[in-house]
Amino acid sequence: KLHGRVAIVTGSTSGIGLGIVRAFAAQGADIVINGLGDAAAIEAERAGIESEFGVRCLYSPANMLSGQEIAGMVRLAADSLGGCDILVNNAGIQHVAPIDEFPDEKWEAIVQINLVAAFHSIKAALPMMKARGWGRIINIASAHALVASPYKSAYVAAKHGIAGLTKTVALEAATAGITVNAICPGYVWTPLVEKQIPDTMAARGLTKEQVINDVLLEAQPTKEFVTVEQVAGLALFLCSDSAASMTGAILPIDGGWTAH
Ligand code: NAD
Repeated sequence: KLHGRVAIVTGSTSGIGLGIVRAFAAQGADIVINGLGDAAAIEAERAGIESEFGVRCLYSPANMLSGQEIAGMVRLAADSLGGCDILVNNAGIQHVAPIDEFPDEKWEAIVQINLVAAFHSIKAALPMMKARGWGRIINIASAHALVASPYKSAYVAAKHGIAGLTKTVALEAATAGITVNAICPGYVWTPLVEKQIPDTMAARGLTKEQVINDVLLEAQPTKEFVTVEQVAGLALFLCSDSAASMTGAILPIDGGWTAH
């Protein structure tokens, strides 16, 4: 269904981004993957996607802290794969601390990677989508784009920000055949969630089990983690013709978290 389309997925060396890449490649899209990590492991992933799905897959090492490198990532898709039809802004980091102890550089990096990077990638990719009269921009936001939790001031601010960016670009691109939406997952078991457990234990004085059950899953009425495959399935739907009239939507997939 995505044959002939080119997708860029930022932060796709792990977790949700990798799941989205696999779902898109399974439908025939050519892909630019991106993210940090061990060079050999990334090359194995890249080559594995090409051989498993019979698509072209390139790696861009662009750091989401750099607007110039992000523009370079979009140019790589244009020069080597012929354009950018689908852009998924997924790269993200988290840090958990009370605001009066929040390290300045962590605050700035979170806003840069989780919000400002999407400005740069959209700015670079939108002209190509307009030229073709078709495009899909999917921003991976969070339930934290809709509600807050204590000790996550930078993340909640950035995710609320990307909801605003999503709506604005949706309006600007509305007549160009381009949709712009935000997916707002609840807790998905990925390295990003696993890594915040020690800090949450410290900030709240809890054990690991208490953090999982009384903090994370407490938020989710289903009492289950959302899966990477479920988030990828929603991203795939947003790329379909059935979703052509969905734009500017902030879409929770959170086990009921933001219903209460
Ligand atoms: P993850 O840690 O598994 O993956 C994050 C990806 O971003 C990795 O590929 C990493 O290399 C990349 N990345 C980090 N810093 C980068 C940088 N400076 N430049 C380029 N790439 C960089 O995390 P995940 O859980 O898969 O998160 C993906 C997205 O989903 C994030 O935006 C996150 O906020 C969002 N999200 C996650 C959850 C969850 O529960 N896991 C819930 C809601 C939203």
